[in-house]
Amino acid sequence: MAQISVRDVTKIYKGGVKAVDNVNLGIENKEFMVLVGPSGCGKSTTLRMIAGLEEISSGKIWIGNRLVNDVPAKDRDIAMVFQNYALYPHMSVFENMSFGLRLRKYPKHEIVRRVQEATEILGIKHLLERRPRQLSGGERQRVALGRAIVRKPQAFLFDEPLSNLDAKLRVQMRTEIHKLRLRLQTTFVYVTHDQTEAMTLGDKIVVMKDGKVQQCADPMTIYDKPANKFVASFIGSPPINLMQGRIIKKERKLYFDEGKFQVKLVEDMHRVLAAHEGKEIIFGIRAEDIYDKLFVSEASTENTIRAACEVVEPLGSEVYLYLNSGKNMFIARVGAHNRPEVNRDMDLVLDMSKVHFFDRETEKTIV
Ligand code: ADP
Repeated sequence: MAQISVRDVTKIYKGGVKAVDNVNLGIENKEFMVLVGPSGCGKSTTLRMIAGLEEISSGKIWIGNRLVNDVPAKDRDIAMVFQNYALYPHMSVFENMSFGLRLRKYPKHEIVRRVQEATEILGIKHLLERRPRQLSGGERQRVALGRAIVRKPQAFLFDEPLSNLDAKLRVQMRTEIHKLRLRLQTTFVYVTHDQTEAMTLGDKIVVMKDGKVQQCADPMTIYDKPANKFVASFIGSPPINLMQGRIIKKERKLYFDEGKFQVKLVEDMHRVLAAHEGKEIIFGIRAEDIYDKLFVSEASTENTIRAACEVVEPLGSEVYLYLNSGKNMFIARVGAHNRPEVNRDMDLVLDMSKVHFFDRETEKTIV
């Protein structure tokens, strides 16, 4: 186990693509760090530079106390698990798992001991003689994990390891990785485009876009206090509702004026938003912070709005309402007992203590 430090790292590929733009990351010893962002944002390139599979254009990477810029991948003492498993088709599970140890000339009894230990952890003891083509996707992924575990590396680097699995297996393997992590007590860097994986696995999440780090924090901070509009909309399902409007003042109180409705700002936000009076601004509210008024005992008219309910989507444990204010479409996530009529106007209550405001130009969070 080791801490990993990425300092001012940039990667420019041949042809001039700046895939990673001055990235800084501090991954603590035994920490599980998730790099998340849309396809092409530079996650894999960052991971591959840590692994030593990609040259760094500028900047420095340390693993433990060692500057590894010029250390070849095989000498970095890290193990990488890929999306496509990268198993040797002509080798058995045992041979695949022990390959790295055999290359490094480990004694036979040590190889057998480590493979046994890993297969027990992963529940694949019965598969040791099989070839990769005789395994299911989930089993192959376990073998790939096993091959990494037997090395007892200083850190594990995972590049979208669950992307090739079907939805159900993905959820199952997610919890397995969680357990594995608790058991191995080592450092993990995990790349995914899936925000649910990021939220559920990470001690810390790094949200990337266009090669740059947008925010690095623990999952709940990322969710509750996103640094900008991009982070707010990338993390969370359904995505946060965003509406453009204006801050206005009525009888010394500030309101957000969406065009079709006005809602009063909570006192806490007045100080910061006073400077934005009269200006265009972006308002964000998560689907779970909007309620059907019929189920709210106390609501002021100042945070109640009217909107047409266009679609009601029951999901069993909850219901999504697709709403239209006349200017903006938005989604409310309400309790399973809520069944408003479709194509009728309804009253909705917004929890104004939970809303976000973003600068229209910079898209940075104002409050
Ligand atoms: P992500 O993992 O977030 O999907 P990548 O790190 O794979 O993103 O890619 C970041 C950017 O670098 C993309 O624009 C991609 O097209 C580009 N890129 C990746 N690999 C190469 C390469 N070998 N040569 C040139 N450009 C590349």
